[in-house]
Amino acid sequence: MSLKGKVALVTGSTSGIGQGIAEAFAAEGAAIMLNGFGDAAEIEKLRAGTAEKFGVKVGYSGADISKPDQVVALVAEIEKDFGSLDILVNNAGVQFTAPVEEFPDAQWDRIIAINLSAVFHGMKAVIPGMKKRGWGRIINIASAHGLVASGHKVAYVAAKHGVVGATKVAAIELANDGITVNAICPGWVLTPLVEKQLDDRAKAEGKDVATITQAFLTEKQPMAKFSTPEQIGALAVFLSSDAASTMTGTPISIDGGWVAG
Ligand code: NAD
Repeated sequence: MSLKGKVALVTGSTSGIGQGIAEAFAAEGAAIMLNGFGDAAEIEKLRAGTAEKFGVKVGYSGADISKPDQVVALVAEIEKDFGSLDILVNNAGVQFTAPVEEFPDAQWDRIIAINLSAVFHGMKAVIPGMKKRGWGRIINIASAHGLVASGHKVAYVAAKHGVVGATKVAAIELANDGITVNAICPGWVLTPLVEKQLDDRAKAEGKDVATITQAFLTEKQPMAKFSTPEQIGALAVFLSSDAASTMTGTPISIDGGWVAG
């Protein structure tokens, strides 16, 4: 198990991509701190189930990562309870869609806080400990929307482009500290975040979800197929491995060819 002895925090890991990444790390022997919202009983089932299945320590924190002080406290809690924090995956993210002139200010502030500012605060909080230990992996979950735009997603696209930029800055600064910083840029992954968009569009266009799903995929991706949380997890494991120790500052696409054209 390649990550035995490492400790990973995956923000937003009670669902979707984050859950897939947390499980992939646990399968490689890393201790995990889960984070995110949801039904308390379901989260405890996930926490205990992951710990039992993979034989690793798994914690859970309901910290709201849109609040900088809660990010700082979460990192301190992990370093105290787990002894270190070696891998940070800034994954939690939210979406809201509307044209720019109708985009609610509150949604702009919320998306920038969760999708962009939390990435900054998370990196800032973990870097001192990683530097001290001389090893670290920071993986920021950006998006194809960190590289190209789509209409009606002004806050999300701005935040994800910002994540790619912040990733590059941190990578340059930490290049000789044993710490790599990369961004993963997924195309469509079928998670609650995307299911909501599919449902909203099916309702708006009066079509069934299956028809909308096909249109949704092929409008953006040459490959008419979702990537899976397991595939994103496998990429995160690779980025955390010694094989990837000289990969840094890179946005890595896993997107069915979305940004190739
Ligand atoms: P999801 O809705 O399934 O999961 C989001 C997670 O973030 C949940 O665990 C939720 O509880 C958590 N979260 C939300 N706000 C939070 C907060 N303030 N504090 C702590 N946790 C919070 O979404 P997903 O599709 O798995 O998305 C994960 C990441 O992947 C996001 O950054 C998203 O932008 C990115 N992404 C998703 C896709 C896709 O197609 N699904 C594509 C590209 C990028």
